[in-house]
Amino acid sequence: MRFPLLLLLFVFCTFSLAAQMTVTRNGIPEAVIVLPEKATLTELFAAEQLSYWVKEITGCALDIAHTPSRTKNNIHIGRSFAESKYPDDLHFLKDSEGFAVRMDNDGLYLFGARPAGCVFAVYDLLEKNTDIIWPTLAAGMDRIFTPVRDLTIRRANYAEKPVIQERAWGINNGYYYNDPRTEYFCLRLKTNAANAKEAPRKRFGFTDDDYECHNLHRYLPWEKYGSEHPEYYCLIDGKRAKPGYHANLCFTAPGSAEEFAGNFIRERLESGLECGIAGIGVEDSNGTCSCKECLAPIRLPGGRILTKEENEAEFRSAQYYMWLNRAAREIKKKHPRVRIATIAYMFATTPPPVPLEDNIIVVYCPINKNLKQDFHGSTNKIPLETLKAWNRLCSSFAVYEYYGCAADYPRPVSYIIQKDLQLMRTMKIYRIYSEWILKNNAEYISAMEFWIVCRLLWNPDQDIEALREEYLRKTFRAAADEMKKFYDIVRDTWYADGASSYYYDNAVKSTGYYLLKDPETEKACRNALNAAVAKADHPISKRLASKILSIFESYVEKAKKSMIKTAKVTIPLIADLSIASVEGGAWANAVEITDFYNLAVPSKKTGVPVSVRVAHDGENIWFKFHAEGVRFPVEKSSGMFSREHWEIFLQTDRANASIPYYHLAFDSDGEKYNAIAFGIKWTHPWKVAVRKNADSWDAVAMVPMKGLNIRGNSAKLHFLHHSKQNKTNEVWKGNQVHEPGAMTDIFFAKEKE
Ligand SMILES: [Zn+2]
Repeated sequence: MRFPLLLLLFVFCTFSLAAQMTVTRNGIPEAVIVLPEKATLTELFAAEQLSYWVKEITGCALDIAHTPSRTKNNIHIGRSFAESKYPDDLHFLKDSEGFAVRMDNDGLYLFGARPAGCVFAVYDLLEKNTDIIWPTLAAGMDRIFTPVRDLTIRRANYAEKPVIQERAWGINNGYYYNDPRTEYFCLRLKTNAANAKEAPRKRFGFTDDDYECHNLHRYLPWEKYGSEHPEYYCLIDGKRAKPGYHANLCFTAPGSAEEFAGNFIRERLESGLECGIAGIGVEDSNGTCSCKECLAPIRLPGGRILTKEENEAEFRSAQYYMWLNRAAREIKKKHPRVRIATIAYMFATTPPPVPLEDNIIVVYCPINKNLKQDFHGSTNKIPLETLKAWNRLCSSFAVYEYYGCAADYPRPVSYIIQKDLQLMRTMKIYRIYSEWILKNNAEYISAMEFWIVCRLLWNPDQDIEALREEYLRKTFRAAADEMKKFYDIVRDTWYADGASSYYYDNAVKSTGYYLLKDPETEKACRNALNAAVAKADHPISKRLASKILSIFESYVEKAKKSMIKTAKVTIPLIADLSIASVEGGAWANAVEITDFYNLAVPSKKTGVPVSVRVAHDGENIWFKFHAEGVRFPVEKSSGMFSREHWEIFLQTDRANASIPYYHLAFDSDGEKYNAIAFGIKWTHPWKVAVRKNADSWDAVAMVPMKGLNIRGNSAKLHFLHHSKQNKTNEVWKGNQVHEPGAMTDIFFAKEKE
């Protein structure tokens, strides 16, 4: 195995040799950068970076030479200078992206065991010996420092290496989105965002590995094989489907994995682009094949027979990984050193009951993890079990996270990420990659979180309060205390609330839900930000504080508009037994909800009318559902959520983190589903009765209030109707599902009308 199981951070400190070294005095260079005779691309890059940043700070650049100066101080960059001088450091740094900064009477030495270490050493040296910070990605706000004419190195003689061996970003959610600005910014924070094939990875000292995914269609193109080998593709609704956003491949077709491997070898591995690891990953789709062979029981190694009915998640996963094993064996024959990275995502998330070929690297995607809680939180039992299962199955694996997908709201996720990293460091995880948006306001308002998380990936044991303090002081200076007040409110309102938080959280909805919960909170945020703008004493600090204030105000304005739209709905008290039937006359007095919109296009009214009536009798909540335009019989899919069905989302106690909300669903045959949030086991004695009509259907549901922990006669409610036949998802007010901030406030009337 190439990667050590457990990496510990060590910091060596000795102060015996040289106490300090002058780099510039009075704006004149007193040092030169010395490179080896045959410097690598990355060593040269590190030297150029040091010269550039010294010029930014002091106004004078440093010369780069290949022989030490006799008159000036020498800053040596590159591991060759360290081979004989600092062998202990190189031993300590082996196989890591760590670095050492050493100083003696011959000068300063910046090096790493791997090329990237030289670059990280440069940035770390500057951070420790000047007041520079790289606070945001945004142009014009990406550096804050005090210009000086005298630069002296006082802090040297240490070595560090990261706890998480590979720390990589997918900025702006597009895997191959890469802008040089993004890549340089992430590099300065000692992480890697250089994913694109055209990115300067070699120059930065990173490998040419790729972890591409959603690419099954590329190496078995429909255009090439569609007519001659239709069996290579998914049978969906009786037809072979083109792979991509709606379908994967048929994983049992004879010869398909081998044909795929041949194309992959030719078009990827032998394309001239070197790599040690290359990605083959399932599509961004749960569409799997329903051909006869793909539905047949699977004979597992050891003889066990696995059927789809017994465990569909395991069945589909086994089918995929057995297909991938076939492709991996073909690839190994020709390229034994190359490894294949594959995402454990969608139907491939569950660890399969079959061993994997040793040239496969699994990249587990915990997309269903509630980021309000760490892996040990009560709502995260499923992702934790899956993580542990992959850890048992793999000798080394990677994780694909979603830490910053909703960063347009300043979610204080670093506290959770810290705990998760402290758990993951004990596992066989060598790489953590995460999506993070640095656009749509996130590049300003969540800049502190991004900076802190980069630090935690290097060493998750750092004190978050100290990191916040460092960021706020260096970035906002005289305005630091006021900015801290704002970020403390954001943090405290978020963690005091039981609502779950997923990658799709909406910034405006979150502002309404957390910061406009009461007028005092809103006012305190505004006062802190206004005071910060007034107190900021550095032009960039002032611009950034102003930007954050204007983002806050724009969210508040939009949230208030949408909150008027979502004014509280009163649920009438109706004590009339006729409410138990679809025809019951009492339903005339229930509140009727008809404003349903398309989930994907929230401004679009639904094509086919649907409605829900709601009432309560003091002990039960009653719902009457009506959906038109559905002709029976309807196709019965295996999973509830792809059938003709309704869903109810109900949040009753926002202080309870273990019950973010209840989720109930039923189909047109009256079959029920109930859970807490995403599939957490919950039993509740609710009932549903269904009536099918000529081209519509009705249902009455009775949900006992006992056991729902309703506080103060208030709750939050939301509905979704899915029609497979009409290919529609209709939601109340067009609001997102599984998001408490997007649910509507309801009030249970105490008196009869
Ligand atoms: Zn099939």
